[in-house]
Amino acid sequence: MTDNADIYDVAIIGGGINGCGIARDAAGRGLSVFLCEQGDLGQGTSSASTKLIHGGLRYLEHLKFRLVREALVEREVLLRAMPHIAWPMRFVLPHNPGLRPAWLIRLGLFLYDNLGGRRLLPATLTLDLQQDTTDRPLKPSLRRAFEYSDCWIDDARLVVLNARDAAARGATIDVGTTCVLAERRDGLWQVTLEDGQTGATRQIRSRCLVNAGGPWVDDIIRYKLHRNAPAKTRLVRGSHLVVTRQFEHDRSYIFQMDDGRIVFAIPYEDDFTLIGTTEMDHDGPPETATCTAEERAYLLDAANAYFSQPVEEKDIVWTYSGVRPLYDDGARSSTKATRDYVLMVDTSEGAAPLLNVFGGKITTYRRLAEAALAKLKPYLPSMGEPWTADAALPGGDMPVDAHMEAEAKLCADYPFLDKSWARRLVRTYGSEAADVLGQAHSIADLGRSFGGNLTETEVRWLMANEWARSADDVLWRRTKLGLRLTEGQARDLDLWIRSDAHGPEHAVEASVSSS
Ligand SMILES: Cc1cc2nc3c(=O)[nH]c(=O)nc-3n(C[C@H](O)[C@H](O)[C@H](O)COP(=O)(O)OP(=O)(O)OC[C@H]3O[C@@H](n4cnc5c(N)ncnc54)[C@H](O)[C@@H]3O)c2cc1C
Repeated sequence: MTDNADIYDVAIIGGGINGCGIARDAAGRGLSVFLCEQGDLGQGTSSASTKLIHGGLRYLEHLKFRLVREALVEREVLLRAMPHIAWPMRFVLPHNPGLRPAWLIRLGLFLYDNLGGRRLLPATLTLDLQQDTTDRPLKPSLRRAFEYSDCWIDDARLVVLNARDAAARGATIDVGTTCVLAERRDGLWQVTLEDGQTGATRQIRSRCLVNAGGPWVDDIIRYKLHRNAPAKTRLVRGSHLVVTRQFEHDRSYIFQMDDGRIVFAIPYEDDFTLIGTTEMDHDGPPETATCTAEERAYLLDAANAYFSQPVEEKDIVWTYSGVRPLYDDGARSSTKATRDYVLMVDTSEGAAPLLNVFGGKITTYRRLAEAALAKLKPYLPSMGEPWTADAALPGGDMPVDAHMEAEAKLCADYPFLDKSWARRLVRTYGSEAADVLGQAHSIADLGRSFGGNLTETEVRWLMANEWARSADDVLWRRTKLGLRLTEGQARDLDLWIRSDAHGPEHAVEASVSSS
């Protein structure tokens, strides 16, 4: 706190990537920060993305050079800051003679290679698919392809790591807490919060308020702030299929569709392939988004237009859907609507600014946070300078592409781990993997096993350090072990986490406010 002990400099509604990114940046600049999330961190759009740090090759077609350049530059900044949860990936774009001409793709990829100050990532190649034996899964009629670089990121972990870093720098992160009302009083914001478990309400005050509600941004403006929305948000649903593994290598595919869209097929969690995404205007509350039969069929058709072996309904292991909160720039189709972010400050009543966040991408969250703080600087002039470009997230203090070495070291230090277990731990916790395992000398030391190499020790660590409060938090956001556990195992885990015996340990040590 700066002067008055119960007043925060910034209160943030929404624990997605944008809210947590702003909280981290603000806390690191010496501001006192409060963030509330109605459910779990990242449970909205930020855990339902395609999980790419990318410039967005397709946006070049819409001449979005500023957005593409900012995102391309950001790829390597993020890779360096979080090499445990993000890594370079090569994308194979088969040339389909009936669609975009080869010269246009080459021009796009030339710009893509050169717009964004690429240092770590390799350049574009042209592939002869007849010679390239790793590309056997594609139909033999496809003869040529282009291969370019982008990056992969675990989106849900990115959110929680930002929240952890914010908390370590003094921010208060309140999960399971809904903002039910926010109003200006005596030059400050008075924010009323409701506890999701008990229904109890309480209030906090802040100098500035940030609405980072993602697809709920309009809902918050209308029903919690009782104001008119300054801009329109376009809700566009995107769904993904997780299917059994369709190819053996670590490159991804980007398929052009004849409706002008593109669909990715990405190696996922070692044994699976991720296929997505769709783009459908979404009616109704964001939390109702699910993958419809029409979307399943569209994505299976997309895969079957390119893969030689059919991908069928029976291969689908899991689906997930999210809602893009796009800033409505009046574009006719959802594909053409801008992916850029728009930040609007409202000081209409002369004091206590409100910052509404519209749109954005996982890729540009750090830049969005910097831009948000620049907007708030006139009201909080004591804030420090931008600092996040060179700062590692928790567990990210390791070199880019050092996963193999880190896995080998973990196996040497904990000989009871097998390779895939060590691989999962390094790609989830990075340099903190040993902290998760602690003093264990044997598997028995890790306590109860919940299935899929998830043990009591790891779950306790997630409850103590990362706000995990349910099986879903652990299985679908802190890890993706939901793909490995049976329904019964997931239920047992949920009961175990929620049992009274573990209740008091839910507190996240680092989340204690600095106030
Ligand atoms: C299908 C799909 C694929 C995508 N793929 C990519 C990609 O590959 N790369 C990329 O860069 N971007 C991608 N994106 C975009 C990216 O995922 C989003 O821009 C980003 O996640 C939005 O984050 P957010 O924090 O604004 O929203 P959210 O993550 O939705 O967070 C908003 C949070 O606010 C909370 N909230 C709402 N109301 C309240 C309240 N009253 N009180 C407290 N909390 C509240 C919600 O519970 C939610 O957790 C994709 C998006 C979609 C839908």
